[in-house]
Amino acid sequence: MFCTRLRPRAIGRRGRNLRCGCGFRLRHGQFARHRGTRREQIGAPGPLVPSRFVPNNPETTLFRGFPPMTTAPARPQNHLLSATGTTIFTVMSALAVEHGAINLGQGFPDYDGPEDVIRAAADALFDGRNQYPPLTGVPALRNAVAAHNKRFYGIEVDPNREVVVTSGATEAITACLMAVLNPGDECVLIEPLYDTYLPVVKLLGAVPKLVRLTPPRWELPRAELAAAFGPKTKAILFNTPMNPTGKVFTAAELAFLAELIQRHDCYAVCDEVYEHLTFDGWKHIPLMSLPGMRARCMRIGSAGKTFSLTGWKVGYITCDASLQPNVAKAHQNLTFTTPPNLQRGVAVGLAKDDAWFASVGTELQAKRDLLAEGLARLGFGVLPTMGSYFITADFRPLAAALGFTGDDVAFCRALTAEAKVTAIPVTAFYAGADAPNHYARFAFCKGEAVLREALARLEAWVTARKAQGRQAVG
Ligand code: PMP
Ligand code: GLN
Repeated sequence: MFCTRLRPRAIGRRGRNLRCGCGFRLRHGQFARHRGTRREQIGAPGPLVPSRFVPNNPETTLFRGFPPMTTAPARPQNHLLSATGTTIFTVMSALAVEHGAINLGQGFPDYDGPEDVIRAAADALFDGRNQYPPLTGVPALRNAVAAHNKRFYGIEVDPNREVVVTSGATEAITACLMAVLNPGDECVLIEPLYDTYLPVVKLLGAVPKLVRLTPPRWELPRAELAAAFGPKTKAILFNTPMNPTGKVFTAAELAFLAELIQRHDCYAVCDEVYEHLTFDGWKHIPLMSLPGMRARCMRIGSAGKTFSLTGWKVGYITCDASLQPNVAKAHQNLTFTTPPNLQRGVAVGLAKDDAWFASVGTELQAKRDLLAEGLARLGFGVLPTMGSYFITADFRPLAAALGFTGDDVAFCRALTAEAKVTAIPVTAFYAGADAPNHYARFAFCKGEAVLREALARLEAWVTARKAQGRQAVG
C-alpha cells in the first residue's frame, strides 16, 4: 500500500520494510518516490533519485533494491587531479601483493631504522608533549637540521629563521613550489622525474619546461637546459642523487646550473632526499653550497631515506631567511605541523656520528653490487648507480631470448606475475612523448637474503622462458 498523505516526518528503515510518518508500509521501489515527494514538500533542492542510478550496481545502490539517498554531483571535479593516475608505486606494490612477488618496485627498505632513533620517538610519545608542535618544527629538530648542514656541507643555518620541518619530502617539495610559483611562471623540470613534480607544478598554475636526460650517463644536456630558461622562468626543481637514474650530479654540472639560475634570477627547489645514499666515493654536493646559491635554494632532506624510516614521513627544508616565511606559510596551509615525537626521534638521528653516516652508503653499496651483478649475469644491461636506492636495467639484451616483445610496463607486469619479482617501468618517470620504454627500475634497499631470492626467481624465470622459446622455434 502506498501512502498518499506524505507526511514529511520519520521516514526510516525497519528491517526490510520502510514506513512513512503515517505508519504506512512501503514496498521496494516506493521508497525513493515517497522520499522524493517529501523533499519537495520541505523544499529541499533537486530529486533524491540520481539520474545516473543503475539498478543492482553496487556503486550506486545503497542497499539491495533501493537507490542511494543522495544525488551524485554532475559538476566536473578538478580536471588536473581527475587526469592524474594512481601513483605507479602504489599500483606496482598492489600487483606485487596480488602475485606474491618480492617487491623491488616501491623504494622502501625491508629493515628498520636505527634503534636509538626509534626509541627516542617511542619515549617521546610518553613525555606529555603530544599536542601541536611549533609550526616550523620542534626546536630540537630545527637545531639538528642546522648542525647537520654545517657538519656535512659547511652551510651556516639559523635554526629559528631558516628551517621548516614537513610531513615528508613530498610535502616539502609542494611547499617550496608553492612558496615561489605564481600562475603563469615557468618551472624547469628534468626528465626522468619523480611522480609528484609535474602534477604539483600544474596544480599551481605554473608552466612546466621539461628537459630530458639521456641514458646511460644521464648528463645535464647543457644546450637544452640553457634553452629551457627564459624571462618567465621562476624556478627549477632539481633532484640529486637522482631517482630513478641513480645519478649524482658533478660539481661541474652544478656550477653550470648555478650560473643559469643566477643569470635568470630564479629559485631552485633541491630534492636531496638521497643525500647520504651515495657509493664508490661519490659525494653529494648541495646546489645551495655553490657561490651565489645560498639565498636561491630550498634544500630538502628526508628522514625516511636517511634513516630507513619511510613510513615516518618527516622531511626538512633549509632555506634562506628571505624564503622561509613563505615556505612556512605553505606548510601551514598543507599540514601545519608534523608529529612531534617523530621529530624528536629524527633529531637524535641527525646527531649520529660521522661513522654512522658513512656506513649508510657502504651498507647500501653492498646491496647495490649484489643486485647489479646478479642482473648483469642474467643478461640485463645494468646502468651505473652512484646513489639512491635504485638500479635501472635495460631488458632489451634479454628480450629476444625470452620471446618478449612488449614495452617496460608489459615487462614489469610479466616479471611480477610470472617471475614473482616486481620492478617499476621507467616510463612512469616521463611526461613527454617518446620516452625510452626498455628500462625497469629495481630497488636494492632490501635484506641480502631477499635480494638473493629475487635473483634466484629471476634466473628460474629467464631459464624457463628461454626453454619455451626454444621449444616454440623447434
Ligand atoms: N623525492 C624523491 C626523489 C623520492 O624518491 C621520494 C620518495 N622516496 C620523495 C621525494 C618523497 O620522500 P618522502 O617519503 O620523505 O615524502
Ligand atoms: N620514493 C619511492 C620510490 O621512488 C616511493 C614513494 C611513494 O610510494 N610515493 O619508489
